[in-house]
Amino acid sequence: MSATPPITQDVLTLPRKLPEDGLRNLVGLTRAQMMEALIAMGTPERQARMRVGQIWQWIYHWGAQDFDAMTNLAKAYRAQLARHFTIARPEIVSRQISDDGTRKYLLRIAGGHEVEAVYIPEESRGTLCISSQVGCTLTCSFCHTGTQKLVRNLTPAEIVGQVLVARDDLGEWPVPGAPRDETRLVSNVVLMGMGEPLYNFDNVRDAMKVVMDGEGLSISRRRITLSTSGVVPEIARTASEIGCLLAVSFHATTDEVRDRLVPINKRWNIQTLLDALRDYPRLSNSERITFEYVMLKGVNDSDADARRLVRLIAGIPAKINLIPFNEWPGAPYERSDWARIEAFADIVHKAGYASPIRTPRGEDIMAACGQLKSATERARRPAAQIAAEAGIAPSRP
Ligand code: SAH
Ligand code: SF4
Repeated sequence: MSATPPITQDVLTLPRKLPEDGLRNLVGLTRAQMMEALIAMGTPERQARMRVGQIWQWIYHWGAQDFDAMTNLAKAYRAQLARHFTIARPEIVSRQISDDGTRKYLLRIAGGHEVEAVYIPEESRGTLCISSQVGCTLTCSFCHTGTQKLVRNLTPAEIVGQVLVARDDLGEWPVPGAPRDETRLVSNVVLMGMGEPLYNFDNVRDAMKVVMDGEGLSISRRRITLSTSGVVPEIARTASEIGCLLAVSFHATTDEVRDRLVPINKRWNIQTLLDALRDYPRLSNSERITFEYVMLKGVNDSDADARRLVRLIAGIPAKINLIPFNEWPGAPYERSDWARIEAFADIVHKAGYASPIRTPRGEDIMAACGQLKSATERARRPAAQIAAEAGIAPSRP
């Protein structure tokens, strides 16, 4: 499937907006940090709060990319801002548009690193899948990102910047004076791109605060889902400090199999993880935990697995997202057959859980879950090594 050529691939020539030397990027700062920065630049303290409010609205409500646009600020003040600050986003290196409308962005950030973000339009919502790290320190054996060697945490600016870039590209910023259009293109955000968000907790939290802020991007905490492989000590903080919804990469029903698929299980096993999830505050039917379960042929997809799964999660308000494995070159697994996935879904459904099978999106552009990996990162562990580490024979040469 990955051999299908992308429908559209265009290298954009948008204005380059990587932070310039010496200029501090205002994107991604909390309100308090922005206020501090404005005061340090010479803004009188008694005006600082109001200036933050104005600038915040320009950046996050109107999508302003330079200070000249901020017409309710005095010209001299705008010039002063421009001497100290910038409003920078990651640079779009390429954008691919799938025949199903999915858009995959390859973005360049400081240091020449690249990360990906994916926009998935659906009838009732538009979901932006964003990255939290370059690569990932974890090595889940079925995940393409996990084969990437290079890793660094994204800054809050780089995390928020992915949302700004998508709105720029979709032309979603409101036009001053025009009637308010309530349809949102980017209505939901999922932290399911590259990286383990709970290993970059503070930056992810600060970024989500900006994304949720009602004077700006205004995406509600209930439209944000953070996916973790199971970093147990940070799970409670996700509820108390961010308040968004939680998804967990569960993927197996015995420790023996989960150790191989999601190696962090050796540190925090299934029982420990489930205990942390049972304690997740505000858990309710309307704010269920999503259990992500990748369907791997002959590995975790039996009827017995399905029955064990519902026994394990008994009592947790949950929905089970079944993800047909997205293959990537050299992957040591195969996708379960469709009939098998449906039989599995049926057992879970009969036990009373919603069990949607996540239709693969953007497969022709390798935009689907777990396939993300920057194109420039060529050094990867060989397929045989990945298979050996997973304790399995490669499914193809
Ligand atoms: N690191 C986080 C979030 C990013 S991965 C996590 O692991 O939860 C987002 C989801 O895609 C996870 O559930 C992950 O396990 C799943 N995934 C990874 N590789 C995949 C693949 N090749 N096919 C299908 N799902 C995959
Ligand atoms: Fe990292 Fe998530 Fe991939 Fe595991 S599945 S390697 S945690 S990105």
